[in-house]
Amino acid sequence: MDLKPDQMEYYDHSDLENVDLRPPRRGWMDTPADFRPGSWIYPAKPKHLEYLGMPNPREWSPTDEDWKLPENWQQIIHEGFKERLGKYRSFQIFMDTCVRCGACADKCHFYIGGGDPKNMPVLRAELLRSVYRNDFTAVGKLLGRFAGGRKLTVDVIKEWFYYFYQCTECRRCSVFCPYGIDTAEITMMARELLHLIGLGVNWVMEPVANCSRTGNHIGIQPHGLKDTLEFFAEDIEEVTGIHIDPPINKKGAEILFVTPSGDFLADPGTFTCMGYMMLFHELGLDYTWSTYASDGGNFGLFTSAEAMKKLNAKNYAEAKRLGVKWILGGECGHMWRVMHQYMDTMNGPADFLEVPRSPITGTVFEHARSTKMVHIAEFTADLIRHGKLKLDPSRNDHIRVTFHDSCNPARAMGLFEEPRYVIRNVCNNFFEMPENTIREQTFCCGGGAGLGTDENMEMRLRGGLPRGNAVRHVRDKFDVNQLACICAIDRATLTTVCDYWAPGVKVTGIHELVANAMVMKGQKERTMNLRLEPLEAGAAVGAAGKGEGDA
Ligand code: SF4
Ligand code: SF4
Repeated sequence: MDLKPDQMEYYDHSDLENVDLRPPRRGWMDTPADFRPGSWIYPAKPKHLEYLGMPNPREWSPTDEDWKLPENWQQIIHEGFKERLGKYRSFQIFMDTCVRCGACADKCHFYIGGGDPKNMPVLRAELLRSVYRNDFTAVGKLLGRFAGGRKLTVDVIKEWFYYFYQCTECRRCSVFCPYGIDTAEITMMARELLHLIGLGVNWVMEPVANCSRTGNHIGIQPHGLKDTLEFFAEDIEEVTGIHIDPPINKKGAEILFVTPSGDFLADPGTFTCMGYMMLFHELGLDYTWSTYASDGGNFGLFTSAEAMKKLNAKNYAEAKRLGVKWILGGECGHMWRVMHQYMDTMNGPADFLEVPRSPITGTVFEHARSTKMVHIAEFTADLIRHGKLKLDPSRNDHIRVTFHDSCNPARAMGLFEEPRYVIRNVCNNFFEMPENTIREQTFCCGGGAGLGTDENMEMRLRGGLPRGNAVRHVRDKFDVNQLACICAIDRATLTTVCDYWAPGVKVTGIHELVANAMVMKGQKERTMNLRLEPLEAGAAVGAAGKGEGDA
């Protein structure tokens, strides 16, 4: 078979496992980016930039000598840099503060899996900082290279494009920085600067254009979303015998439910989506889907603050239009970074909404007093804690599950216990991965922040190595055969990471597990799970009993 660099089978395990950590012979400033197949992402198509009114739409390729930059591109970058230093105090501090202690150096999954020094967070930031020193500091202007400064050249711009699209903005490195320098935010600034001269990637900009037009990244029209939910309802009926009519654009509903569009698009996210539908039906929840706020995910976060704000605005706008009391959000990663850290100040305050209160348990989610938005993992954990769900965890006995803390819910929200609590109540066999790979120190899937496309497969597999290794460890030690996560990007990208680094381990969302364990009122005898697999066939696999490795 003629394998291509965008296929995981193209990459030999021994090549990717033997990471060369020796420093290169040449200094980093003199080592240009190597645009080899499998390590970079296709540029944004001009039609998407035109639709969004973004600068310099054109056909180009990173492997071309001439990137067709605007004539005054250096001036544009310089002015954009200056504007952002003035606008974002954190950016100025991050440019000035690093003492090069190296505590972050070996914490990035791309460095661990690839060995390229420019994927050390300290050096990734230095790609930008060196230009900052040269252009904006007295010592840099005077001493140039001797003070760590360098001129902004075409090679530097090419290097920015290459390495700032090899950062998943996961923030693992910032956990270890004694000064709290957040390299993800440096990457966000670098990408904003690159966009000023027309340098973006299609895997981000096509979803941003789709989302601007339809409200979701995949461009589903209202009737398409309705069809999708009805299709899921048919499968649910086949499994449970229960007919569900998903409420759509229902004015005056108590709750607006928003989830990432990945849950509508592809397995295994679709099973998680079916899980939400079953849960809400069983509770008799007064909620609605929206065909406009049809994606909580926000690729604007990977583009610019302006794009993020624009794509997020629909959530509050739709909550107002439909007259709901509060918003419930599905299993997503970066969606929650935006909701939790930026939404309230960016598009709020949402004073027209009420402080979220579970209509089933009466719990008031005080921590969501400001955003008016609750994560479904905490909503479901609260239901279980109050005994509101009838659960039969033995239905998941064929599953030996581990939990991947998705970077954003973990590091941006501190959502560690709720998903674990839910899993322990719906599965009898739960096993933790090693401590330094979970919770706040969790390893990224390697495909976040718009990197989850196939043309950069080598980097995805390299970046996925630390997570894949930890999964392989629990697979070999405890016979783990499923990896649960609460992020749509994870559900898509970890499938490849597991297939490559830990074959035999499948990926699932936690509400798929909940729905499979839930004993529903009026259900027929369950013989299949949501994947339409027979229950008996799998039940024998996980007969070893409860959680021997459960930390
Ligand atoms: S990918 Fe994550 S760990 Fe690596 S530099 Fe970016 S934010 Fe830091
Ligand atoms: S840990 Fe912080 S201060 Fe130390 S090198 Fe990394 S970014 Fe700089």
